[in-house]
Amino acid sequence: MFQKARIKLTLLYLLIIMAVSGSFSLVIYKFSTREIERFSRTQRLRIERRILEQGFFGTKIVPKDFIAVIEPEILAEARQRLILILLGINGAIFIFSGSLGYFLAGKTLEPIKEMVDKQNIFVSDASHELRTPLTALGIGLEVFLRDKKQSLSKANVVIRESLSEISNLQALSERLLKLAQFQSPLFSLNLESVSLNKVVSEAIEKLKSLAKEKKIRIVTNVEEVKVIGNFEELSRLLIVLLDNAIKYSLSNQEVEIKVQKENSNAKIQVLDHGIGINEKDLPHIFDRFYRADLAREKVGGNGFGLGLAIAKKITELHRGSIKVESVVNQGTTFTVLLPLKPSAKFQI
Ligand code: ADP
Repeated sequence: MFQKARIKLTLLYLLIIMAVSGSFSLVIYKFSTREIERFSRTQRLRIERRILEQGFFGTKIVPKDFIAVIEPEILAEARQRLILILLGINGAIFIFSGSLGYFLAGKTLEPIKEMVDKQNIFVSDASHELRTPLTALGIGLEVFLRDKKQSLSKANVVIRESLSEISNLQALSERLLKLAQFQSPLFSLNLESVSLNKVVSEAIEKLKSLAKEKKIRIVTNVEEVKVIGNFEELSRLLIVLLDNAIKYSLSNQEVEIKVQKENSNAKIQVLDHGIGINEKDLPHIFDRFYRADLAREKVGGNGFGLGLAIAKKITELHRGSIKVESVVNQGTTFTVLLPLKPSAKFQI
């Protein structure tokens, strides 16, 4: 498909260039032949005058067909030469602009190809991820329907399991939708002055029941820092990091959130003392759908590998950076840096 589009675009470039070059050649041809005719006319008059003054082989009579024979021959030869030269030039332009057009068409289509490739990978990854919970849901319901001894209590269990799968699917589709939204070239953030204190409170409020379930204490060490950003998205970022810190900690452990100013940045840190991340997994954890083996072993199916991809995208949208440090079985620290003063392009 890409190759076809490239050839079509090359032909379009060629058509435009050849139309311009052809029209110029036509103008040059018309202009030059007119000039040659004019030149030959003045030459003829000059010869005639000279013959009248000096004579033609001793006589004052000019043979009528003498000039009439020479002139059309010279003119025809000049025209022919001109046509050949113009054809040569147009041929060279055709070959040169054809190869250049092919190269430029490739360059023009490259970002589009990249975007389409990314989109295709995203769609195939997403449908793969959606298939697993949907299959589980389907099998659960089918097994129940085939069961000859259906009972209310069994129905209760099946409905409960189905609801949990449905809520997993909802969470997955919400995250997929968010990522797709971030990828759209038309997406832009609504910016405002955001208190990171409030962002931290919002994230804790959303996750306090999960922390309580796991008996995890959330400790905060938060300076009053304001950044220009989007409250909803910054809260989403902190929720992802805090949710992971709780999810990948063991019961009765402590999770800490720190916010402070550092040079021209706001520094947000989420620290845990949980299972940690293997060194080989560290370069990949921000990739879509990536889940480390350690997380799969300890937390099982409770995750889609999308949270950190979303967190990274939100940080980038705020012209910030995110990094991770981790030691297996000792804990993990995520550090987000957000500029205190936005760049000129990022003013509200
Ligand atoms: P998930 O939904 O699987 O948590 P994320 O994108 O949020 O997806 O995280 C990607 C992977 O990074 C996780 O599966 C896990 O392996 C690892 N990870 C993220 N945060 C932590 C953490 N605080 N401690 C240990 N591993 C983590």
